[in-house]
Amino acid sequence: NAGRNNVCFYSDLMHFKALGREHMAIQARLANAIHDDTLQVFYQPVVEAGTGEVLAVEALARWQDGQGGWVSPDIFIPMAEKAGMIHELSDRIVTQSLERLHRWRAAGLKQLLMVNISRSQLFSPTFLSLLVEKLLRLGLRPGDVVLEITESVALTDYARQMKHLRQIVDAGFQIAIDDFGTGYSSLSQLHEMPVQFLKVDGSFSQRLHTEDGRGIMQAIVQLGQLLKLDVIVEGVENRETAQYLNEIGVRRMQGFYFSEPVPPNVAELSLRLGV
Ligand code: C2E
Ligand code: CA
Ligand code: CA
Ligand code: CA
Repeated sequence: NAGRNNVCFYSDLMHFKALGREHMAIQARLANAIHDDTLQVFYQPVVEAGTGEVLAVEALARWQDGQGGWVSPDIFIPMAEKAGMIHELSDRIVTQSLERLHRWRAAGLKQLLMVNISRSQLFSPTFLSLLVEKLLRLGLRPGDVVLEITESVALTDYARQMKHLRQIVDAGFQIAIDDFGTGYSSLSQLHEMPVQFLKVDGSFSQRLHTEDGRGIMQAIVQLGQLLKLDVIVEGVENRETAQYLNEIGVRRMQGFYFSEPVPPNVAELSLRLGV
């Protein structure tokens, strides 16, 4: 009996170790990609749905792993956080997207750049000053950039986060609460936060075929409007969704229906011509 258990236990362990090795190998390749600056940035337009005009683009990190194909940022961003590589990674992404914005400004384009900020960046004492320095060196202003912070990050350690958010706003940046609706902010917390944009999580756009789903979407949108926030609904995949959102007063949307995240040269066309 003991033997069988042991064998079973052992094989589980082997499996675990194998996974661990694979994980280490991917992590090492990610470290190389960061070091060699081969990560890319794609851009997804945020659209004024009525006109197709593009108000902003969101920078999204992309990694094409030589051995594994495209790896989702939902995998490699947390991996970089755990491995202590997130600062270098973010630095590459931010630098690339700011340089791109610099070119777009030089070409007369006025739209905002939205950048995702991770928990550890927000807590880093040097993050904000380095970012401002980088902007100024490129002749850009903090007002050109919206920092996206997920609702769950904005809410953990609320008092400390409020201090960070204030500093960001004082430096001239705008803030968007990302993935809104998936955390648990209270009305009073949300009311106190110095944010301009609310990005409603895409999962709510996928539930509009049920009455409950539509009710929840309406409640979230009304909440945002009540707090005088600029509401952007994410994950809009088809015309029906866009139409319904328009009916309940949502003007700003993002999603595959308008455009997938695209490389910079394609994004530039949308910035010029709309989607
Ligand atoms: P997010 O910030 O919520 O970004 C939106 C995600 O939804 C993106 O996934 C985008 O490609 C996807 N998406 C856009 N429209 C649609 C749609 O109509 N339907 C569906 N099903 N999905 C849509 P992506 O690019 O895979 O990024 C995943 C997450 O990784 C992001 O979620 C963000 O949290 C994180 N991330 C990406 N780039 C960065 C970065 O540079 N820094 C940090 N800290 N996080 C990043
Ligand atoms: Ca985002
Ligand atoms: Ca989001
Ligand atoms: Ca997300």
